[in-house]
Amino acid sequence: MVGGGLVGSACALAILRHGMSTLIVDSEIVDNASVARPASYGNAGHIALEQTTPLASQLVLRSAPFRLFAFGGPLDLRLRDIAAWGPWANRYLQACRPDATLAGTRALASLLAAAAAAWRRLVQDLGSPDLLIEHGHLVVWESAKTAARGRASWAAADTGAVGIRALSADERRTLQTQVARPLADGVAFEGTGQIADVSRLLETLDAVHRLHGGARRQGRVVAVGEVDGRPHLTLDDGSTLTPAVVVIAGGVGSGGLMRSAGHVAPVVAERGYHIEGPAGAWGDLPPVVFEDRAMIVTRFADRLRACSFAEFAHADSPADPRKWARLRRHAEALGLPLLSGETTTWMGARPTLPDYMPAIGRSRRIGGLIYAFGHQHLGLTLSAVTGELVADLALGRTPEIDLRPFDIARFERG
Ligand SMILES: Cc1cc2nc3c(=O)[nH]c(=O)nc-3n(C[C@H](O)[C@H](O)[C@H](O)COP(=O)(O)OP(=O)(O)OC[C@H]3O[C@@H](n4cnc5c(N)ncnc54)[C@H](O)[C@@H]3O)c2cc1C
Repeated sequence: MVGGGLVGSACALAILRHGMSTLIVDSEIVDNASVARPASYGNAGHIALEQTTPLASQLVLRSAPFRLFAFGGPLDLRLRDIAAWGPWANRYLQACRPDATLAGTRALASLLAAAAAAWRRLVQDLGSPDLLIEHGHLVVWESAKTAARGRASWAAADTGAVGIRALSADERRTLQTQVARPLADGVAFEGTGQIADVSRLLETLDAVHRLHGGARRQGRVVAVGEVDGRPHLTLDDGSTLTPAVVVIAGGVGSGGLMRSAGHVAPVVAERGYHIEGPAGAWGDLPPVVFEDRAMIVTRFADRLRACSFAEFAHADSPADPRKWARLRRHAEALGLPLLSGETTTWMGARPTLPDYMPAIGRSRRIGGLIYAFGHQHLGLTLSAVTGELVADLALGRTPEIDLRPFDIARFERG
């Protein structure tokens, strides 16, 4: 397994559970103080089953100018890094064709429909059912105008099996006791949820993987090739590995590895930021999306995390401190308890393909090579189901979900 983030860890455990031995190779040197750990560590913990329409759509494209960072929005296209995202953007424009968005919605819906049940199985297997909290999430607005627009937009959206209802009087009251500014309105989503604590989830995945004989080693894979009909990995220390099956699950790092194996894999770093501090008296609220501020706030145990931004940049470019400053201003304006004690900051990259669909499948170029990356904004939501699908592929079985729309070869066509 190349990559031990959420997707790689879920895949490794699922494969191990079917009797195959597993080794996770991950380049990360674990350092909790780092602001630049992978996306799996810094995300919002939201099981986002409502997001069935890929973000490659005419609607999202048309709204882009209004969502720019320069105008107070979350979207930033870093000009100095245009070489990293320019060619990707060309492909993105193609993927926004209405017929492509429709096909993507159908495909993504098939994964999302299986995601909740896969999560229930995974947390049971981990012996920690409390890691999954299926208490929905809330979306709120701070002005009557944005509330009317937001309600209409969600009413028109395809949210799959997820229902949307008005906030109850109790929810309104609880929210308003937590938030310093008057809220104009909000809606509650039913059928979604959160991971109770993303750090604990990753630690538990690692511990259970090791407990059942799985191995992990630190190292950067620099190339993927083929020797004697098997995948062949070269690591940065010059060592090599030639196992029967290799799974590329390296998040944004997967692009270079897939290219070294002869694939076209236009994955871009879509970077997000968070600030985190004490949860204080936040209570047991589910994740709350402050839609006017494009910010989601999630409680993880005794910490509260506020996440935002979609910054298209080179994966290794320095973080932009203006984003943390803006998150801090939002938290101040809303009176969130997270500023009442020690706060930490983080930045990390979503691995995003131009059509906002993951790549999951078997390589057509190298026997025994499997890939699972490009999960964009949905990597936490889809990691459990991806693990199950990849285990099927590793065992040579045909998965129940049609994986043709997720074939990486789709980028070889134009
Ligand atoms: C701010 C923010 C909020 C988010 N919120 C949510 C949310 O609420 N819900 C949701 O579903 N998703 C969310 N996401 C998206 C989600 O976090 C990602 O899609 C997911 O973490 C991707 O997981 P991954 O394992 O594919 O990649 P990563 O987390 O990037 O992990 C990849 C791993 O591979 C390793 N690696 C890379 N290259 C190599 C190499 N060459 N050799 C060895 N190892 C390598 C890395 O060290 C890393 O550990 C959010 C993302 C961001 C940025």
